[in-house]
Amino acid sequence: MIKYALACEQAHAFESWFPSSDAYEAQLARGLVTCPVCHSPQVEKQIMAPSIARMDKPPMAVPAQPVAAISDKEREIRSMLRAMRDHVVQNAENVGHGFAEEARKMHYGEAEQRSIYGEAAPAEARALVEEGIDVLPLPVMPDDRN
Ligand SMILES: [Zn+2]
Repeated sequence: MIKYALACEQAHAFESWFPSSDAYEAQLARGLVTCPVCHSPQVEKQIMAPSIARMDKPPMAVPAQPVAAISDKEREIRSMLRAMRDHVVQNAENVGHGFAEEARKMHYGEAEQRSIYGEAAPAEARALVEEGIDVLPLPVMPDDRN
């Protein structure tokens, strides 16, 4: 007896026993091998996945994915960061890439003092801090990029 993993044309997978591989071929040719789900005689042997067929080898190394298990505390911090970010975004003026320039103008009294946000390269942000200009990194939430 020989056991085959089979699948019909609609991908219903099932297993069946045959006296021999010749008997399987003969029954298949006469349309006697049918899917137990849809009774289709269009049945084929399934190719075993290498990971199932070769149990003697360790599983293939899969590239690691970034994962995190977030505690309730961290969830809380995340939502606080999000609230702070949202507050800034709603109450400050978006000056985009002109952030460093605008922050400098405000610092030296060339522009009205107000809350602004925008984008600054790390070197730009560092330069602002060195000039005594308070800048605050805005948290970027991972799902912002979705
Ligand atoms: Zn089927």
